[in-house]
Amino acid sequence: MPIGIFGGTFDPIHYGHLRSAFEVLQALRFEEVRFIPCGDPPHRGATFAAAEMRLRMVEVAVSDQDGFTCDDREIRRDGPSYTIDTLLDLREEFPRRSLGLILGMDAFLGLSKWRRWDEILSVAHIVVAHRPGWKAPDIGALGEMISDFRTHRVDDLHDSLCGRIYVHAVTQLEISSTEIRDLVAAGRDARFLMPDAVKDVIEESRIYESCTK
Ligand code: ATP
Repeated sequence: MPIGIFGGTFDPIHYGHLRSAFEVLQALRFEEVRFIPCGDPPHRGATFAAAEMRLRMVEVAVSDQDGFTCDDREIRRDGPSYTIDTLLDLREEFPRRSLGLILGMDAFLGLSKWRRWDEILSVAHIVVAHRPGWKAPDIGALGEMISDFRTHRVDDLHDSLCGRIYVHAVTQLEISSTEIRDLVAAGRDARFLMPDAVKDVIEESRIYESCTK
């Protein structure tokens, strides 16, 4: 059964991430979804919480869910966290397992700016989880990639190790890490946007109290 790979800054992790991953885990019959917090994100500014703290929040968020795991390889690795390096590393560790890189539609739309993005399908499948307000591209390099490699069959993700794109609609939860950071910085309560265990880490460490966009 495939291993799902869900990368992100997770600054902090929230129910938008967790619900999407859970729906993918169940609907696509993945054995596992591995949350991989980014060490040093190459495509955006510095994170607000330190890598170790973001890792801690992911660990407490996934600890009670069967099939959810947390992987710290990007945080342990030096230099910018490029997804292709992570995938190649996982491919070496799991030479005979199907790998499914899970991306929100907004992340997928930026894919062509990623390092060696056109090699991703030779290592893993791509699962695009729809996010509110985003539509699959039908033109340009990504449009072409979708039309060449898209499948509507979940079994294709099980029968081959890599190479297909599967677009999966997930329940739309309009939650973002930015919104949570802003709420906390404004002294408001971010309860019910993320697991209480994550909220506890935020409160104990006071990481977002003085953060501004
Ligand atoms: P920020 O607000 O700091 O930009 P974010 O909430 O978008 O953060 P990231 O850690 O950057 O979170 O996102 C990691 C992955 O999760 C991306 O693939 C993104 O598309 C997806 N994602 C983020 N928020 C949601 C959501 N509410 N529902 C589904 N997927 C989401």
